[in-house]
Amino acid sequence: MGLIVQKYGGSSVRDAERVNNVASRIVEAYDEGNDVIVVVSAQGDTTDDLIEKAQEINPNASKREMDMLLSSGEQISVALLAMAIERIGRPVVSLTGWQAGFSTDTNYSAARIKKIKTERLQNELDKRRIVIVAGFQGVNKYDDITTLGRGGSDTSAVAIAASLGADVCEIYTDVDGVYTADPRFVKNAKKLDDISYDEMLELASLGANVLHNRSVEMAKKYHVKLAVKSSLEKVEGTYVKEVNQVEKMLVRGVTRDNDCARVALVGVEDTPGKAFSVFSLLSKKNIGVDLIIQSIGRDGKKDISFTVTEGDLPAVLDIFEANRDTIKADKIDYSKDVSKVSIVGAGMVNNAGVATTMFEALYNANININMIATSEIKISVLVEQKDAERAVVAIHDKFLHN
Ligand code: ADP
Ligand code: ASP
Ligand code: MG
Repeated sequence: MGLIVQKYGGSSVRDAERVNNVASRIVEAYDEGNDVIVVVSAQGDTTDDLIEKAQEINPNASKREMDMLLSSGEQISVALLAMAIERIGRPVVSLTGWQAGFSTDTNYSAARIKKIKTERLQNELDKRRIVIVAGFQGVNKYDDITTLGRGGSDTSAVAIAASLGADVCEIYTDVDGVYTADPRFVKNAKKLDDISYDEMLELASLGANVLHNRSVEMAKKYHVKLAVKSSLEKVEGTYVKEVNQVEKMLVRGVTRDNDCARVALVGVEDTPGKAFSVFSLLSKKNIGVDLIIQSIGRDGKKDISFTVTEGDLPAVLDIFEANRDTIKADKIDYSKDVSKVSIVGAGMVNNAGVATTMFEALYNANININMIATSEIKISVLVEQKDAERAVVAIHDKFLHN
């Protein structure tokens, strides 16, 4: 007996049948004597549908209004789930992010949680109520609704678990754990019993959207025991843990991230300070740059290529247009049809062969590499988007199929 935080994603509550299924699982945990707080996402494709609705009316809607709109999806879910629990006959209360005490910064659409005022949550638990909280949302200092970025309900759940010192934070979804690659298109992907916070953080940041990367960051910081489980089947899931409890594997998983765009400044002057002047223009506007390549100078000119998220591409092009005279490139080239494919594993530090094996797998599959980046626990390559799934399968076969 203790405090359990559970989170159910959109597919787990997509229709009445699923909502009732989730309700009975929650009641089970409650009837065992636990205090239970549940974070829930918008049903099914609701968030995507709301984005589409907004696009029809104004493709350049302000982020403030987008947050107002998108947060409504979670408000529907909490009420429906609470009604399902009422019907079973247990005390329950649903709360919006604001009612649950989530205060965030003012960065609409990608807000960070600053603090959770836990009084209300604690009061409800003291009354032995099941508490259902709308995920992915909070309120900022202007009393405006904010959202935490796509997939952010995971982070809402971990934040509650951290603030109240829950015994465990269980993330229930449509797969039964974290796999060595996305099981939707890598048929022989294997479920991991456990994974370190650091490896999970890399996987999540590199495209394994089974967990929101900030939820993992927060779980690590506040030592939250995190589990990924199936909302449909009762099987053991994956535990995200401290590194020393986890066996170090050379490669833990393979990911792909389609949310990137490549930009190339072709033929810029080969003089000191060029990279600085280009990237400082971007960092001033808060635009994060990922993979970077600079060619060797030739005839006093060089090329600088890098990737950003697709959402940042229009801003990057605007900035370069406005600063034509400083940058002085012969040509600015870009593409959205690229993907980043990565391998992650704490055991790859100082293992020179890993990169070679990854490149060999791509060569055998006849896939061209545009860019490469490495760190202690990951190697990423940029490939054409049409090749990305094949690339993941080929690399997965090489390292993880046995
Ligand atoms: P939810 O709506 O429950 O938050 P998400 O769609 O955000 O669910 O996350 C679950 C999905 O993550 C799975 O359906 C799966 O396709 C995808 N996924 C990507 N990489 C992995 C991985 N390595 N392990 C498990 N699932 C993964
Ligand atoms: N409903 C939001 C989304 O689809 C938040 C979440 O599901 O975590 O991104
Ligand atoms: Mg999710």
